[in-house]
Amino acid sequence: MAQQRRMGGQPMFILSEDSQRTQGRDAQSSNIMAGKAVAESVRTTLGPRGMDKMLVDSGGDVVITNDGATILNEMDIEHPAAQMIVEVADSQEEEVGDGTTTAAVLAGNLLGEAEDLIEQDVHATTIVEGYHEAAEIALEAIAEQVNEADVDDEILRQVAESSMTGKGTGGLTAESLAETVVEAIRHVATDDDVARDNVTVHTQVGASSNATELVPGIIVDEEPAHDGMPSEVEDASIAVLDVELDVRTGDVDAEYAIDSIDQLNAAIDAEEGELQGYAETVADSGADVVFTTEDVADRVATALANEGILVFEGLGDSDARQVASATGARRVGDLEDLETDDFGSADRIHTEAFGGDDLAFVEGGAAAETVTVFVRGGTEHVVDELERAIGDALDVVATALESGEVVPGAGATEIAIADKIREEAAGIEGRKQLAVTAFADAVDIVPRTLASNTGRDPIDALVDLRAAHESEGRAGLITNGDEVTIDDPFEHGVVDPADVKREAVESATEAATMIVRIDDVIAAE
Ligand code: ADP
Ligand code: MG
Repeated sequence: MAQQRRMGGQPMFILSEDSQRTQGRDAQSSNIMAGKAVAESVRTTLGPRGMDKMLVDSGGDVVITNDGATILNEMDIEHPAAQMIVEVADSQEEEVGDGTTTAAVLAGNLLGEAEDLIEQDVHATTIVEGYHEAAEIALEAIAEQVNEADVDDEILRQVAESSMTGKGTGGLTAESLAETVVEAIRHVATDDDVARDNVTVHTQVGASSNATELVPGIIVDEEPAHDGMPSEVEDASIAVLDVELDVRTGDVDAEYAIDSIDQLNAAIDAEEGELQGYAETVADSGADVVFTTEDVADRVATALANEGILVFEGLGDSDARQVASATGARRVGDLEDLETDDFGSADRIHTEAFGGDDLAFVEGGAAAETVTVFVRGGTEHVVDELERAIGDALDVVATALESGEVVPGAGATEIAIADKIREEAAGIEGRKQLAVTAFADAVDIVPRTLASNTGRDPIDALVDLRAAHESEGRAGLITNGDEVTIDDPFEHGVVDPADVKREAVESATEAATMIVRIDDVIAAE
């Protein structure tokens, strides 16, 4: 990138003539505007009454979603400051798996408040200091809101349900899905940690979402290499190979220059022998089920089918890795090296056709350390959104179980945060106090948005919430079916993991302060 430097007092220009430079207030306000605009774009999706967005890309592909991170990523945002808000959502998704809309909306509002402060001649560094100080107070407020009771299955179900309410869960209620999600996480949890990676989600279009179930093992999109192979194998010894069980096509074309019938017969015999050798080696190894990333010749498949061996060919690398890790198999790259030690195991492997797709289920035994949420739904859009909702729910349940800390949802924690910040702001000297108070005003965006998304007047709702917080301690704007009430969210099972709120405060503060500090944008053409 081009820039200007001073050497020995002489200005030296190394900027290309084509580069665009914006400085001072102009740079600040254009960045702030871009960041705010992006955050604003996801605001209507927040909460149980949030609406969905339909995103259509230049190729006509359609995504329908309520998920903040997905929306922001699908929007193809180019402005660098706006891109930083997308990163807020991304890091939120990565760290805790939920709260992406909250974090993006908070970042946008922190920028909006900063804009007002700049207009009042509060310097950017004062805003940054004030915001950081306020963020610290926010973290203390979150700690004060943490539940006292242990996080049991009931609370975990509430956490899952709260994260899925308002998402497109098809014909399924968030309540029944929450049950499945908690069961999945419990399955992979020990006293010390949660092996979140051992829970996978597999989607299949073509049935009502009511058919969504938990499979103790993994599912791969594969069909048997031959019709005559068994569709079910019990107590399976499983080989996972990176071996082609075919004559190399290259060998045939290049190396056999055939000019007599004898030579042709010899070549065919050699091929036949090679293929038979593969089939015998596999059969003799004792494997009942074979997964290979390479091709299997028809003749080899026929021979193995006759031996009652179930073979899947042409597996993708990630499927092969998943099968190996779930069943405890070691991948083998040379047939000569295949030993019983390399085998994995499962109680049962069976194949089943769903519509036009064949699926292989690898269940039980070693494979049951992994569980798969088998998501069904009528259309591609339904299963895709269900997959995102379940993914978020699995993440929040894992997060809540690991830390043992949940806080009241429905805006109650945000009301408590803003309240504590305003209280402590009184003791802060100078203009920084303005920045600290502005942070509290920005946090109000969450309950305000929850209110306006339920059709309530945001100002009235905020006043009522603050009053209830003052008198009752915990007060959120709870949506239950068509009813909206102000009450203690813990009483209604509306709970979020404390880490989701912490991460939102931290990532939003970081992005907003970074954007506010920029007063010079130099862009190459
Ligand atoms: P995010 O991407 O930030 O997770 P969501 O659309 O999932 O956005 O909304 C999350 C917010 O909705 C949280 O503040 C959560 O407490 C709140 N929420 C969840 N269920 C309810 C409910 N039944 N009533 C009110 N608020 C709820
Ligand atoms: Mg959410």
